[in-house]
This record gives sequence, structure tokens and C-alpha cells, in this order.
Amino acid sequence: MFLALLGVVACVAGLTHFCLLLLFAATGVTALAQVNVASVLCYVLAASLLHRGWPSAAMMLMGAEIIAHGLMAVAVIGWQSGFHFYIVLIIPVIIVNSLLSPVPKGVLAVGVGLLYLGMDWRWRNATPYMDAPRAVLDALYYFNLTSTLVILGVLSTVYFQLVMNAQKRLRDVARTDPLTQLRNRRYAMEAAQLEAARVQRGAGPLAVLLGDIDHFKVINDTHGHEVGDEALKAVAEVLRGGVREVDHVARWGGEEFLVLLPGTDAGEALAVAERLRAGVHAVSVPAAHGWSMGITLGVSVMVPGETFEQALQRADRALYQGKAAGRNRVVLASTPGISCPQDKAGVL
Ligand code: GH3
Ligand code: MG
Ligand code: MG
Repeated sequence: MFLALLGVVACVAGLTHFCLLLLFAATGVTALAQVNVASVLCYVLAASLLHRGWPSAAMMLMGAEIIAHGLMAVAVIGWQSGFHFYIVLIIPVIIVNSLLSPVPKGVLAVGVGLLYLGMDWRWRNATPYMDAPRAVLDALYYFNLTSTLVILGVLSTVYFQLVMNAQKRLRDVARTDPLTQLRNRRYAMEAAQLEAARVQRGAGPLAVLLGDIDHFKVINDTHGHEVGDEALKAVAEVLRGGVREVDHVARWGGEEFLVLLPGTDAGEALAVAERLRAGVHAVSVPAAHGWSMGITLGVSVMVPGETFEQALQRADRALYQGKAAGRNRVVLASTPGISCPQDKAGVL
């Protein structure tokens, strides 16, 4: 993340110095235009060092350039030129730096702060070596002040965005099962509570499908754990691909999967479960050639007045019945207060 920030610093600083180069060339201050040619080359070199994987060297080069440039410009054309502003920008970059440990970070940040104070004390009221016209000094002052503000804005925005992206990645990792890339049990519980609240508000039923791969231990024992893992990934793929965008598929435990279908009644849930079962049955794991996969699914439909845990328990009991009845099948649990669906569907 910090490296991306350094890349932005190199580009923005290179561009700023290029603008200064044009400004000096246009106003006929050739000596300072030449200094800016050297600065632009410095940032090109820093960007290339970053690209080659030498961030510390790039960072030191950029820091040294900003300080040397600031010192020289302030000494030669005066404090009024505003080149010292850029030195202040080094402090936040040092602080968000992930390449430095806390002590050197603190020492460097305080060092740059003291350098800035020292420069202020030495040059704020000093007579510069070069007597630049007032208009040039004013133009430089406002250019440097504006650039500093823009750079500060860009850096904070990029940093904020990087932090947000990192947070999102962490959230995703915390909710994702590393093997199958499905959502994990933690996410499933969060999603279930939200969906359950929708059911209680009368926004329609929630179908709960609990699936467990049949005789999975045999795959592991016969072909090895790696082949078992491959089989789990293949099953996950079938489940993920067999439901709508609004549905939730999660790895509930070892070889158990939970599927939540919002706004789905018993008939539709049975059709989906049966489609998923058939899909898993058709899975071919190359390393377990000839192995016929099976999955048993227990289905329940949560209705207002019951908790998600109760609906899950009913799906679990239905799953158990499916296992007892011979596996590789879908069993619908009876819904409290509704008698017909189970009588009709039973074991498919
Ligand atoms: P049943 O039909 O009754 O469900 O039988 P089963 O063999 O599927 O059930 P059992 O609970 O006896 O075995 C589940 C197996 O799943 C045992 C465990 O080693 C395996 N397992 C759990 N998690 C993983 C995993 O991440 N990778 C692999 N390869 N195997 C796993
Ligand atoms: Mg199991
Ligand atoms: Mg099993």
C-alpha cells in the first residue's frame, strides 16, 4: 500500500517540477530551470527504482531531492519563494511509511520538522543571494503553496482509498473460506440474521438448504486429502453457479454447505435443491476417476414467528433423514403451521 503511495509521490512531484521547469524557462531564470531538469530526472530515476523493487532507495532519493531543492531555492531566491512548503510534505510520508520501524520513523519525522524550523529561523528574514523581481517571487509563492495543497489533497485521497481497499480486502478474507472461496460460516450467520429479519418484517419466506457430501471420508481415504480438496472445490463451483445473485452459498463446515434462498417458497426451494444435487452428482474429479459424487440436502422454509436457528435445525433434521434414507437426495422439512409441502414432497 505504501509503495503505491510512493509511486504517486514520484509522479506528482515529477510533474510539479516539470511545471516549475517551464515556469523558470519562460521567465528566463535559466539557472533554476536547469536545477529543475535535474529534479525531473531525479523523479524519473526514483520511479524506475520503485519499479525495479528498490523502494528504500527511491524514497531516500525523493526525500533528498525535496530537501536539497528546498534548501537551495530558499537560500538563493529567498523564503518568499515558498519552496520550503514541500519539505513539510515529507513528514506525513515518513509517518505512513511501512518500510521504516517506529524509532527511525520518529527520528526522521522530528529531524525534518527541526530542519524546517531551522530553515525558517535562518532564512525567513534573510536577504537572498539572488534578487528576483517581486512578481516572480509572488508567482513562485502561490505556485508552490497551491502545489503543496494539491499534493496534500492527492496524497490524503490516495491514502484514504488505499486504506479503504485494504479494509475491504481484510473483510473479504475474514468472510471467505480459503479452500473453496465460498463465504464462510461467519458470513453465513451474518447473512442469515439479515435475511431472517426480512422474513420477520413479512418480506417473504427464506429457504434454508443444508447440504452434506455423501461418503466424503471415503474419497479422502481412497484418493488422499488433496483429491478430497479438489472434490470440495468442484462441489463449491456447482453450488455457486446454481443459484441466483441474491442467494447466499457458504461452506458451513468440513464437507457441509449452507445455501440461503431469500423470497423462495418450498416448491421453488425443492426445485433448486434438486438441481444442485443433480449438479454435484454429475461432478467429475479427474484424480478420483469413476467416483460418483453424492450430496444429501435438507431443506426448510423459514416463516415469520420462528428464528433462523429453528429453521436451520429443521433443515438439519431433514438432512439427517436423507442420510438415513440412503443419501444423494433432497428432503423437505415440514413448515410450522403448513402441513402439505412435506406430505407432498417428502424424500425426493
Ligand atoms: P456421510 O455420507 O455420512 O456424510 O459420510 P462422510 O464420510 O461424508 O462423513 P464423515 O463426517 O464421516 O466424514 C467427513 C470427512 O470430511 C472427514 C474429514 O476428514 C473430511 N473433511 C472435512 N474437511 C475437509 C477438508 O477441508 N478437506 C478434505 N480433503 N477433507 C475434509
Ligand atoms: Mg458432515
Ligand atoms: Mg458427509
